[in-house]
Amino acid sequence: MPLPPNNILHILDTKVYPSESKEVNFDVANLHTSSNVNVPVIIERAKKPGPIVLFTAGIHGDEVNGVEIVRQLISKGINKPKIGTIICMPVINIFGFINLKREFPDGRDLNRVFPGTADGSLASRVAYKLIAEIIPHVDYIIDFHTGGAGRFNAPQIRISKENKDLNELAKVFGAPFVLYSKNLNKSFRNSCYKMGKPMLLFEGGKSYHIDESVTASGVNGSKRLLQHLGMLNTKLKARKPKNDTVFINESRWIRANYSGMFRASIAIGSLVKKGDILGNITDPYGKFNHPVKAPHSGYIINVNESPIVYQGDALFHISKKLKR
Ligand SMILES: [Zn+2]
Repeated sequence: MPLPPNNILHILDTKVYPSESKEVNFDVANLHTSSNVNVPVIIERAKKPGPIVLFTAGIHGDEVNGVEIVRQLISKGINKPKIGTIICMPVINIFGFINLKREFPDGRDLNRVFPGTADGSLASRVAYKLIAEIIPHVDYIIDFHTGGAGRFNAPQIRISKENKDLNELAKVFGAPFVLYSKNLNKSFRNSCYKMGKPMLLFEGGKSYHIDESVTASGVNGSKRLLQHLGMLNTKLKARKPKNDTVFINESRWIRANYSGMFRASIAIGSLVKKGDILGNITDPYGKFNHPVKAPHSGYIINVNESPIVYQGDALFHISKKLKR
């Protein structure tokens, strides 16, 4: 939805004029205690027209690292654009965030109910409102996530393979890795794709955890993207990434062959060779110690940090085929 000639952004029943800063409440439902719940939508507009970029996090309430990235975009003034508009929604699933849970209070995963309905479950209503009232206004979306349940992700952008423009944007973002993955049915990413809105999905770190290097990767990537769009605040500078992004065509999980106590001995993001020892599984009684070996060469893009594993549990995510 391009802005009218007078360049007024009319969003969530609020008019936001050029050069204005506004915080609007994405009002959905109260708590069961009847307390109001604030879901702030922070809007910063430059005088000059330009693209509208949306930064979102906390679709999963336990993925605090994503929230921290958007928080830093705001606190460092990165969300004040030179041209155009930046919209930040640091915590979309505030109900999960309050309880430190991935899901909504009724157990629904917000990222599996898109595009939602106006009269559906609470999660479905949130999805609907996001799709109906925010996404039509924006040109680009960057959605921040983490790995789940103790599985630590190397900072990575996930996009679907076919889209050339997304490839370009992912390259500009400059995270250590880009992983090609299909759009999941009923996900936020899939709904945005169907609306023709380019989205970069960032995954880094793990739930209930804030990792400085993951945060830096998300913040610096956002700055690079804004610079590429000509939007980065003139007071700021985007640094080039230390290494070129590795594009991964195919990857696989290495699973535990034994139940036991697990310790990884390889750093996240490392390039390993076939047969390298990645960690060990032991029993509590000192009777066995099984090494976990790399089945082939590749980059380790996720490490399970849980001290206890069962046979079949995913231990490492390793790249299999890189894009040439
Ligand atoms: Zn997530």
